[in-house]
Formats: sequence, structure tokens, C-alpha cells
Amino acid sequence: MNLEEHRLRELLAQLSLKEKIGQMTQLHSHFYQDLNEKAAGQMMKMGVTDEMVGNSGSVLGASGAGRIKKMLKNQLEKNRHHIPLLIMADVIHGYKTIFPIPLALGCSWDPTLAKRASEVAAREASVSGVHVVFAPMVDLVRDPRWGRVMESTGEDPYLNSVFAQAFVDGFQGDDLKNDLNRTAACVKHFAGYGAVEGGREYNTVNMSERQMRQDYLVSYKSAIEAGCRLIMTAYNTVDGIPATANHWLLRKVLRDEWGFDGVTISDSGAVRELVPHSVAADEKEAAMKAIEAGVDIEMGTFCYMHHLERLVNEHKILESRIDEAVWRILKLKNDLGLFENPFRGADEEKEKRVVYCRDHRDQAQKAAEQSCVLLKNSGILPLKQNQKLAIIGPFADNGAILGAWSWRGDPNATETLTAAFRSEKIFKTYSSRGSGILEGNRELLNEAIKTARGANLIIAAVGEASNMSGEASSRAHIDLPECQLELIRELKALRKPLVIVLFNGRPLDLTPLIDDVDALLEVWYPGSEGAHAVFNLLTGRANPSGKLSMSFPRTIGQIPIYYNCYNTGRPLAENGDKKKYVSKYLDCPNDALFPFGFGLSYTTFEYSGLSLAAVRIAGSMSVQVTVCVRNSGKVAGSEVVQLYIRDISGEVVRPVKELKAFKKIDLLPGERKYLHFTIQESMLRYYHSDLTFKSDDGKFEVMVGGDSVRTLHVPFVLSRGRLVLIHDE
Ligand code: BGC
Repeated sequence: MNLEEHRLRELLAQLSLKEKIGQMTQLHSHFYQDLNEKAAGQMMKMGVTDEMVGNSGSVLGASGAGRIKKMLKNQLEKNRHHIPLLIMADVIHGYKTIFPIPLALGCSWDPTLAKRASEVAAREASVSGVHVVFAPMVDLVRDPRWGRVMESTGEDPYLNSVFAQAFVDGFQGDDLKNDLNRTAACVKHFAGYGAVEGGREYNTVNMSERQMRQDYLVSYKSAIEAGCRLIMTAYNTVDGIPATANHWLLRKVLRDEWGFDGVTISDSGAVRELVPHSVAADEKEAAMKAIEAGVDIEMGTFCYMHHLERLVNEHKILESRIDEAVWRILKLKNDLGLFENPFRGADEEKEKRVVYCRDHRDQAQKAAEQSCVLLKNSGILPLKQNQKLAIIGPFADNGAILGAWSWRGDPNATETLTAAFRSEKIFKTYSSRGSGILEGNRELLNEAIKTARGANLIIAAVGEASNMSGEASSRAHIDLPECQLELIRELKALRKPLVIVLFNGRPLDLTPLIDDVDALLEVWYPGSEGAHAVFNLLTGRANPSGKLSMSFPRTIGQIPIYYNCYNTGRPLAENGDKKKYVSKYLDCPNDALFPFGFGLSYTTFEYSGLSLAAVRIAGSMSVQVTVCVRNSGKVAGSEVVQLYIRDISGEVVRPVKELKAFKKIDLLPGERKYLHFTIQESMLRYYHSDLTFKSDDGKFEVMVGGDSVRTLHVPFVLSRGRLVLIHDE
């Protein structure tokens, strides 16, 4: 034990039971009277005393360096041991400078960009007084009905785990104590939240332990291996046990297997929810179950505050359970340097200079340019100059393009698409709303049609409102609202070139609108500088390079649909296959409308010469994959080269393919690059029926291409644990 740890142990020994329980309780900032006049009323209602507030260890919902400093100072004075408060906040895709939503960042396939985005967010949050951010959200998502898919980077375990690591690196840096531009990160929601049944929020998750480990736990583990300091529990059940009382998840997997020694925090209210979940008779039992499972901090409710002391006195739980939690909390405070400097990065002057500064907004714009995905283009894009454009739709002149979890961002100060076009003055730009997001209006529609008639090209800016995705925003229908579909039908009837720009937080059912449109650019919620990014992409100043990180279904009935699915014993029907006993829908093809990994560019890329060579790396035989990628078009572009592997015969059924590596490269027109990837035995391991994680000898196929469908492929073999080429067999 070093000196600092020794002091922390001494401090822990001096704390009364009440004081320890205070450290384990996170209060919302509205309980702090110095911040909020309503606090007294709130406190009475919830049975929270002044003493409890004085003992509490962390706060959610505070913002602004000045206010937070004041609160920290008051709290230090109230707390007998002067234990600093931890300030935590949701910083999901930017603090004030809003970046594209995480699902969009996933489509950039550029982890360095994600790292930069979280560096910027950490800098802004830290200077405003925040110590811990509730991010990254790394839940694997395969059901676009679920509103929270916008917070994830998508459907693939490997891609998500690469991003999880990048986000954590960006938030925390490598010297958390001294680098005041960083915050601790809290990965969430542990675990499996993305697999809620039917996409219904807060719902049931049922899957085998093997699948949980194979697909769903991977990205949390990656965040933890990157050094993430906290982990948040999930609202859902896992095999009948709510994640927040799940001993298997929180102790066996997280602590014993992964060796996580950071802080666990419940999701907001999730401890109390053990009662309505019907695994606890009352709040007291809920507190007992959560602490036994290993939840260090209760967020949002007061089961710990009201009941832990009694549970210890009645010998229902050991005080050592409390001590282990408080130790981890004190250690986190110490690792953030809060005992020496309780205010940490909070600095009103710096806050004014740093938050929403030009450099941060430029980075947000760059991120948006790389996150949009061109899904269709007849050749109409990039736009030719000097045209008369009509930008039509509820997002034509609307700054609400920040997405959920962005309430510190200001939609009124966010440039709209129309404003971005007008400020550049290279087009004659008309604009008209045409429709609300959810409700149509004949007058608006008529006006828009009139505007569109006068133009020679129409850009329809349509989509979902920000609050149609995010928490508690599941949708049973994932198409565009009918009023917007009607608008598009009327625009199509004008028979003018039509480009759709789609603002949304989930893969939508695009079947009703995709035919007869000339181009479709998926821009998600592109953030503070999104309009400029979209302008650059539409005009060719930037070349689209995003690739989907989540499949787009043809219709809701196909959900769940994801690329790394399993084969049946029979072939999946090719489109239009009339054979009787094959795996097919009678009324819809099996495959996705736009598959994982898909995205167009203004140039084209040719793949050739996929070849394998045996190499020895660190004493073991590996396979080096080489592929040639050529820019066969007329403009420079970036391509995401994706490598998938298929295990031809496993001990359990294996996915049709799995992403194992990728590289994003820049190519000038005519330029070719030879790319090398290394396949090692460790990349072929998977969970067997007895849950051992290992590879099997046998045949594999490596596939390389620009999306998950159109790939070149070559076989290789794993023989007695060594990778060999087929011709060497
Ligand atoms: C969400 C979390 C969030 C927390 C605190 C919960 O409702 O599920 O993702 O971090 O609230 O705001």
C-alpha cells in the first residue's frame, strides 16, 4: 500500500456508517439548496435530510463552473471530513459542442475521430466542473425499434469494442490525475441492454450465456481493458435477474473474471426498481440485493440511504460490503486528484474560452462529414453549381439537428441547412417547410410544392424529431411519419431531380421512399456544425466515406436483422427464389435494404488480388492478408476496407461472417494501395458449448471488401493451432 492509499484507509476507518452510506448515494443537484430554491420541498418529499445531503458522495445534474464550485465549496464545509464531491454528468456526444450521435460516429469507422470527439467533450465538461461522464454507451444494438440505438456505435461486437476503447482513451487520457482536461469515463449499461425484447425500453433480455459472452459483453470488456474507471448497471433483466441485482454479472464476470477494480453505479432509480421488477419485496430488500450484487453507488433513489444502516445493524449485510464500495469511491476521488484540488478543472474564465470554441466546432464538423452515409446516388450528387435549389421539409430550416442527449447544445444557435446553403451563395436557394415532423398541413404542403416548382433540383430534408429516439423512445413503426411520406410523394410527382437528406436516430424503413429518388444522404443527427458538413458533402467539398454500422431493414417484419447472423441448415433464399422449403419470407427478400458496412462515395473503389501468405509472428504461424484497393473514379476519396472471417465448421453454429479488422484509407484518383492485415489464431477463438473460449482446427474463409456483402474471398486452414494456406495443407 502506498502512502496515499494508507491515508485513504485511515480516512475510511474514521467514517461513521452513515457517512459511508452517504458516499454510496448519488443525489441530483436539485437537492442542493445553495443551487436550487426548490430543494427543501424536494428533500422533504423524498425523506432526504440536510445531514444526508452533507454526507452524499456524488451529484448528477449540476452544470457550469461557477455554480459547481460554489456547491463543492459548501459541501466541503458541511462534510466533517472534507471529502470532496464527485460531479457526474451525461456527456454522450459532446458537452456543449455537439458531435454527431454515437451511431453516426460508428459509421465513420474511424476510432481516432471518436477519440478526438471525447477529448473535446472531456475538455468542455471538465472546465465546466464535471469529473465523471456517463459515457461511453457501448450496448450492442440489433433492433432499430429501440430508441437508444442512437447512443451506440452499432450492431457489431468488434467495431463497438474498437470504439469503446477509443472513447475511453479520449475521455481519460493517460494521466487522469494531472491532466485537468480529462474526465473519468463510466461505461454503460452493463449488460445486454441493447437486446431488450421487441425493442421495448427497460425490458427483458433473454439469451444464452454463450451468446452474451460471444457478442454482448465484448465491448464493455474492451472499455474496461482500456482503463475505464466506472461502470453503470442496466435497467433490463438478464435471464430473469435485473442487471442491477445480478451477482453473476457484477461480481463473477466483472470483478472475478475481468478484474475490474473501479466503481459500479446503478442506473438512475434502478436499485428501487428491483421492487416493481418483483425481485424485492420493498426498498430495504432492494438495497440488500443491490449491495450484495456489488453496486457501489445508488443513483437517483434512496434505498441505500434509508436502509443500509439498518441492514448492517441487523446483520443482514456485512459492513465489509460497504467498506469495499466506499474504498473504491474514495480511491476514484483520489485518482482524480480531488483531495488536493476539489474543484479540479472548473474554471469560469477558461470555460468561456474553451466551451463551444471554434476549434471544437471545426472538429465536430469534420466528424459529421465522416459520419454521414451516402445510401443512393444516381449521379446527381455532388450538386452542380449555380442551380436553383428548393430545400423542402421539416428539417430544411431547422436547427434541431443535435439529437437526443444534447440539452446543453442550443438548437437556436445551430445553423440550419438552408442557412448553410445561403451563406455560401453558390446556389439560388429557396426553402419551405412543407410539413411538420409528425403532422401535415395542406397549406404548408401547397406552399412547398409551389416553391419546389420554381427550382430545378429539390432537396427534401426530412426525418425524426430528436425526441423520437434516445431513452424511452422506442417506435413500433420505424418509417418516416406519414405526413412526410406524403410530402415526398408530392415532390416526386413534380418529376424533378430529388435528393433526400435524412435526419434521424435509428435505421429507418426506407422502402416507402427510396424508389424514384435520385440520391439519399443519411446524416443522422449531425451535431452543432452538421449543416455545414452536409453542405460540404452535397456539394462535393467533402466526399462521403461513412459506412453503416447498423443494417437497414426493408421492413419492420425483418427485425432483428444483422449481418453476422447464423446460417440455417438450408440456404438463405436469394432474392426472388421460389423454391418451397428454403428460408424466406413470402412477401419480402431476406436481406437488408442497406447492409452493415455499406456506404457510397463520389468515387469508386476496385478490390483485387486478395492473397494470403504464411508469416511467423512472435513464434507462431499467422496469415498475412494482402489486398489491392484502387480508386477507379475521378475524385479523391476515403474507403473503409473491411475484413471478415467465416469459420466453416465449428463446435457450435458459427456466424456467416464476422468483422475482424478494418482500415480506412485515402486514395487519389487512379491511386492504388496494397493493404496488409494479419490473422492470428487468437482471432479465430469463440465460445464453445461448455463456454471455453478457444479456436478449433478446420477450414476458414477470409473475405475482404467495401461492405459486408460484396467481398473477395480466400480460404485458409487452422491445423494443430497453426494457420496454414490451403496449398500448403
Ligand atoms: C439513463 C442513463 C443515464 C442516467 C443519468 C438514465 O435514465 O439510462 O444512461 O446516464 O439516466 O442521467
